[in-house]
Amino acid sequence: MHLSRFPRVTLCHAPTPLEHLPRLSRHLGGPEIFIKRDDCTGLASGGNKTRKLEFLLGDALEKGATHLVTQGATQSNHVRQTAAAAAKFGLRCTALLETRVADAAPEYYANGNVLLDRLFDCALETRPAGLDMNQELVAVGERLSAAGETPYLIPGGGSNAIGALGYVACAQELLMQANERRLRIDHVVHATGSCGTQAGLLAGLLGMNSGIPVLGIGVRAPREKQEANVHALLKQTWEHLGLPGEPARETVRANCDYVGDGYGIPTPGMIEAVEILARLEGILLDPVYSGKGMAGLIDLIRRGEFKQGQNLVFVHTGGSAGLFGYRGTFAP
Ligand SMILES: *Cc1c(COP(=O)(O)O)cnc(C)c1O
Repeated sequence: MHLSRFPRVTLCHAPTPLEHLPRLSRHLGGPEIFIKRDDCTGLASGGNKTRKLEFLLGDALEKGATHLVTQGATQSNHVRQTAAAAAKFGLRCTALLETRVADAAPEYYANGNVLLDRLFDCALETRPAGLDMNQELVAVGERLSAAGETPYLIPGGGSNAIGALGYVACAQELLMQANERRLRIDHVVHATGSCGTQAGLLAGLLGMNSGIPVLGIGVRAPREKQEANVHALLKQTWEHLGLPGEPARETVRANCDYVGDGYGIPTPGMIEAVEILARLEGILLDPVYSGKGMAGLIDLIRRGEFKQGQNLVFVHTGGSAGLFGYRGTFAP
């Protein structure tokens, strides 16, 4: 997989560290847990969208874009990183924030990622929940074109075949790190939402014939739908890379038992996971994605799904800025 064939800018502090979590591993008494620190990608407090944006910005600049347009939930980490990337390249940015979480505390609508979006001078527009947000993006794009701009539309989460290349690059990086330190990786686990992270990791790990399975812990959709969405994007990414054949549906595995009452709504397991990682390892997770992803990993270890003698890598996809939108959840 020759990623240099694709237009790309540099945004990410790479390679991100691959660290052992000895205190968490001992606390759970199961497999050895390692963490791929993609919360340390370096742009505007980091996160997984930075890797995708390297390829999306590359494409946008090649197409002469003057204005990035994207969308996400109110506390979107993707919007925050896109706004920062736009600032760095002198582009304007408009983001549509979907009020997906209703009746949250005032901090949720103004602090955390929203505060940072404003600091990056991103034009924010809100939309009620339940609209076709990608259709809303197209409408804003048409409005900007009519005003003489060259908009570049980035789908929610930066998840298309271009953005997913960022996680193909991460798969290559992870495999190189593991081989350098003679670490055999038995499983990769991470939080999955708009699917680009899992599709990219799978395209990379399958394309390199690594034999490493990937489990996505869902944060919104039910399992069938999540797996189908990841598989669809995996096939597109595979084709974009020019790989032969087609990856099998069974290679895509998601567990969506840890969503709780819905996207962005706290669960007891998420709160426990955020507190345990903070107190045992000094690592900040987030309430919407990595907290629920780690809650799933912790529960699966407790149920014996992952065992002593195995080496697991949890990909920390970032998001800690979101903690400041959830003050009451952690410090009532
Ligand atoms: C967007 C996001 C995810 C999910 O990644 P997808 O590529 O959208 O599936 C996970 N964690 C954090 C912190 C995120 O912001």
